[in-house]
Amino acid sequence: MIKNLVFDLDGTLYPLSSGLGEDCQCRVYDFFSQKLKVDIDEAKKVSDKLLQKYHYESQGVEKELGISEEEFMEYICRTDVGLLQKNQNLEELLLKLAQRKFIFTDSTVRHCFDVLEKIGVRADIFEQIYDAKQGGYVYKLETNAFKRFCDICKIKPEESMIFEDSCKSLHFAKEVGFATVLIAEEGQSCKAADYSFPNINQALEYLHKQGI
Ligand SMILES: [Mg+2]
Repeated sequence: MIKNLVFDLDGTLYPLSSGLGEDCQCRVYDFFSQKLKVDIDEAKKVSDKLLQKYHYESQGVEKELGISEEEFMEYICRTDVGLLQKNQNLEELLLKLAQRKFIFTDSTVRHCFDVLEKIGVRADIFEQIYDAKQGGYVYKLETNAFKRFCDICKIKPEESMIFEDSCKSLHFAKEVGFATVLIAEEGQSCKAADYSFPNINQALEYLHKQGI
């Protein structure tokens, strides 16, 4: 019995083809360039070095550079949401499903509000918008991130379905007990996914027809 629907934001509620990911990457270089007073080429080297050691740059900024992770995240997630298109049916599709809805993102709450407004989905549809800060900056690349999310939002993973564009993250979600839905271009295989759809609209239409 699925009582909760948990949505990743970036690449899940809107497509990565929007260019927002590239914009975020540029903001990472800008941040290092301004903060460390170096040119963009040097900033890229700083970024590359952190990525050799960590999954995300943000995991190393405090330890390696003495910069607050919160300050870094707030800056890089202030992406150009003007690149996004309104999703005509998404709000209606979400509302057709009776389950409690949550957003679980490795970005920031502010970024979620900006994106939701631009794609035309009311933020109050979601019972909680849970970001990396609330997660103690434990990202969705370990089971602890999912356990903490369930604790704070007071949900049981075995009663919950999660929607993600990252197969890696779904692997950890599945370990914790979530039903898993991959949102990714067709042809991508992901052993951790119970379902796979090319976009969020098709996923929600299917689940509505199935009467989950
Ligand atoms: Mg994502």
